Amino acid sequence: MKISSLTPVDFRPTLRAARVNPPESRAVQEPADQITLSALPASGDLRRAGAGAGAQAAAASAGLAGLAMEQPLRMLLIGPPGSGKGTQAEIVDQFFEVPHISTGQILRNEIQQQTELGKAAEEYVKAGKMVPDSIMLPMVDNRLEKEDSFILDGFPRSIAQAQHLDATLSRLNKPLTCVETLEVSDETVVKRLKERGREDDTEEVIRARLKIYHEQTEPVMAHYQEQGLLDHIPAEGKVPEVGFYLVTCLNKRV
Ligand code: ADP
Repeated sequence: MKISSLTPVDFRPTLRAARVNPPESRAVQEPADQITLSALPASGDLRRAGAGAGAQAAAASAGLAGLAMEQPLRMLLIGPPGSGKGTQAEIVDQFFEVPHISTGQILRNEIQQQTELGKAAEEYVKAGKMVPDSIMLPMVDNRLEKEDSFILDGFPRSIAQAQHLDATLSRLNKPLTCVETLEVSDETVVKRLKERGREDDTEEVIRARLKIYHEQTEPVMAHYQEQGLLDHIPAEGKVPEVGFYLVTCLNKRV
């Protein structure tokens, strides 16, 4: 299934199934080709998660009226380059209508527009290196101040960034709901990114990004594991299959 065709409407039969099958009977570990999405959230779960208008529309057309925003979803999405963070953030957004903040995308936009920030970041992004925290931290803080709920993708990428983020969210009184990590092997990453062919997707730059990921970003997982916020999502499979695991995990968190 193409991501562009994956809309909340695709999950309508699921929401119906969710009413018929009590949550306890819904298996999570279904093999990929048998996934019927029957284990996706029931209406009450969506309501608690603060399902937005899109998810509400899907639920309403499945006969589940009355969903309302109650609790903001604030999640971090961590994973190596090519693990599908942007694609999966889009799926979560379809359900929960949560703003997707991608630091990589913000930087690419700034570079394209040749803003001061973009010019300062350009060399680093092209080489697959970390953009300095003197640029990253104010950029992220500025955005988080404006959002009550969010999917943050691409940040934090180091323990220093994680500590800064914790302090910012504590100051803003916006505690995290969860941290989801997408797990794929290095071989899969290299294969996928070469096919994608973004400017920073040459083999040399991919290897540089992977090295940074293993050395600096992976320790961030332990940081959030200690806080009891971490979920591991197997991400080698197809897009809807990974999305299925992710939404199922989110449902347990909200
Ligand atoms: P990927 O996860 O595929 O590497 P991203 O779009 O997340 O792609 O990031 C692209 C580039 O943007 C990174 O290689 C890095 O140069 C820069 N970047 C993004 N987020 C951060 C961050 N939190 N800290 C430092 N640099 C960052």
